[in-house]
Amino acid sequence: MARKYIDCRDYPGDIKCTVALSADTDEELLEAVVQHGTRVHGYSDTPEFRQKIRKEFKEGRPAN
Ligand SMILES: [Zn+2]
Repeated sequence: MARKYIDCRDYPGDIKCTVALSADTDEELLEAVVQHGTRVHGYSDTPEFRQKIRKEFKEGRPAN
């Protein structure tokens, strides 16, 4: 199974954030990103937000 990730550096804007999250499963990554997004970036945990996150998953590992 391919490892997937979300790298906050790909989304400059609201808050300068250099956190990258990765996991082996979509579910784990989704939960991690939702927690990070709501706590650090002030997003609301909604079905729409979760849908958006899923579309942004990238395969592989975040660049250094
Ligand atoms: Zn972030």
